[in-house]
Amino acid sequence: MQATLEGIRILVLGGDQREVEMVRCLAEQGGEIYTVGHRPYPGYANVVPVESLGPFPEAVPRADAVVAPMSHTDSTGKVRSVPVEGVTIRLDGLLLQRFPPGTPLFIGKALPVVKEAAAKRGIRVFETAEDDEIAILNSIPTAEGAIQIAMEELPVTLHGSRSLVVGLGRCGLTLVRMLLGLGAKVAAAARSRAQLARAKEMGADTIALEALGEAKAAFDVVFNTVPALILTRKLLEKMPKDTLIIDIASSPGGVDFTAAADLGIKAILAPGLPGKAAPITAGRILGRCLPRMILSALSQH
Ligand code: NAP
Repeated sequence: MQATLEGIRILVLGGDQREVEMVRCLAEQGGEIYTVGHRPYPGYANVVPVESLGPFPEAVPRADAVVAPMSHTDSTGKVRSVPVEGVTIRLDGLLLQRFPPGTPLFIGKALPVVKEAAAKRGIRVFETAEDDEIAILNSIPTAEGAIQIAMEELPVTLHGSRSLVVGLGRCGLTLVRMLLGLGAKVAAAARSRAQLARAKEMGADTIALEALGEAKAAFDVVFNTVPALILTRKLLEKMPKDTLIIDIASSPGGVDFTAAADLGIKAILAPGLPGKAAPITAGRILGRCLPRMILSALSQH
């Protein structure tokens, strides 16, 4: 890999297997990487473990950029996953005040608690999951992960199945393409005429989102990608009981899960698919795309 990160100090706070692979990629590009909550990286002289964040400012090495995980934090700011068990990292005012104002913080998604703490300290927040290049590349392991669940749950092959994809953004379009490739009969629903036209061009049947309730077809599997309540009780009541619903939209998803349970319809909320289905690929995507984001953030300051 190119040594594009030469001389740049990057502090990586926790993560899962994706961030472990990302650390390797960033190190191969010449970055000086400091890790918190990771195991050692034998053979990588430019990856330095930081034993503890400690109570004092000097316990944090000077960092040009801080990277928190794609799986981000809970609502209190606690980083959701850390490779080494027992290490707690909280992205709160106490930690963020140790970085100079203007330091860029990269994180999958910044919940209000992190946004507020960062704003108070002048830390610039960049949500990596919303970067188009990362999101489109991540849609590949995401769609594969969703299809993997469908294959495990369905008593029929996806080939020849009636599959519905709701939402035709980055993940929805990739799902449509993969399902068509598997030989499924795919219908796609979205509110955007342009997205529906794209799905039609790809060979799917299309349904305007507002007309989903009137759709006559029954589906073996419904993949929801819309992060808003779309599969309401009223809509679910019209579905056969053996419809499988896989909701990949960010929490709380787009399905009335209580109604689905009441109606005996299996609905699965499936978060974090890239990290589960293909953590190494997902880590390499971060390792490939983050340097561009880091260099751009540093050049703006
Ligand atoms: P995206 O590119 O923004 O696409 C979202 C789709 O949902 C678009 O068709 C959008 O339509 C539609 N939509 C959004 N809000 C809507 C609303 N209120 N009513 C109707 N349609 C609406 O997002 P993406 O990258 O495909 O990601 C989709 C979701 O999956 C997100 O919630 C994302 O966080 C999540 N995700 C989950 C995983 C996982 O592992 N489970 C992985 C990646 C992403 P318009 O274009 O008309 O707004």
